[in-house]
Amino acid sequence: MTGATRGIGHAIAVRFAREGCNVAFCGRSRNAAMEAVEQELNGILSALHSPLATPKAKGYACDVADYDSAQAFVKEVMADFGGIDILVNNAGITDDAAVKRMTEAQMDRVMHTNLGSVFCMTKAVQPVMWRQGHGSIVNIGSVVGIAGNYNQANYAASKAAIIGFSKSCAKEFAARNIRVNVVAPGFVETEMTADIPKELMDTWCSRIPMKRPGKADEVAQACLFLASDMCPYITSVVLPICGGMEDA
Ligand code: NAP
Repeated sequence: MTGATRGIGHAIAVRFAREGCNVAFCGRSRNAAMEAVEQELNGILSALHSPLATPKAKGYACDVADYDSAQAFVKEVMADFGGIDILVNNAGITDDAAVKRMTEAQMDRVMHTNLGSVFCMTKAVQPVMWRQGHGSIVNIGSVVGIAGNYNQANYAASKAAIIGFSKSCAKEFAARNIRVNVVAPGFVETEMTADIPKELMDTWCSRIPMKRPGKADEVAQACLFLASDMCPYITSVVLPICGGMEDA
């Protein structure tokens, strides 16, 4: 999976490890945060499995928006783990501005990271899943990719594009038993949202029928469901996790 050093990605990695899945994850660099997550996941896995089994979690430094790095990442994962059953494309960034003030660089950077990473990782993992004859890809979109948002035209466009890309892959890969779905979180409390002023947070929450932001683990549970054998006939769906926000 991509981007598990913090936030929603971290919650997804923990949730999958608790279910006994080996987890290969990445962030842009190998740092203390990555090492801490690696240790945490290996702790969870060793508590679950018999001492004879060799479950594992491993972090890799990889900029997943770079085609060659994504190819190298998947090659290393194959050498270490021998197969890939699930791909969760979670890595993503924001760089907000009103369209009036948004620069071309801001537009390019967000599209390149958010959509580019999904393309690069899908290209790298698809041949593996194709050979295996099974696989599940879960792409993290956003309700903003369905409804749009003020000051986030670049981000909303990248997340809308992920939906179109995922639905096309779902059609192309279905015959090989590879499912592709999108989880679209609403407003989830993570570092990405930490800088939002409290008044704005309260206004947003007042518009959510459930009157609170989502939790990272609530997104993780949806990813686990879509990735798992609990839904072998579900592909090409966009599942909003947003407390009932009207325009999602
Ligand atoms: P976050 O806290 O900022 O975490 C982003 C993760 O992505 C980090 O682990 C980061 O790792 C990794 N990452 C970013 N660019 C990368 C790259 N080029 N290559 C490899 N890893 C990269 O974000 P979050 O709030 O958890 O969001 C996770 C996903 O959910 C994103 O796709 C976001 O768009 C989506 N989402 C979030 C919300 C929300 O309210 N938080 C709502 C809807 C959708 P390093 O920094 O270590 O590289």
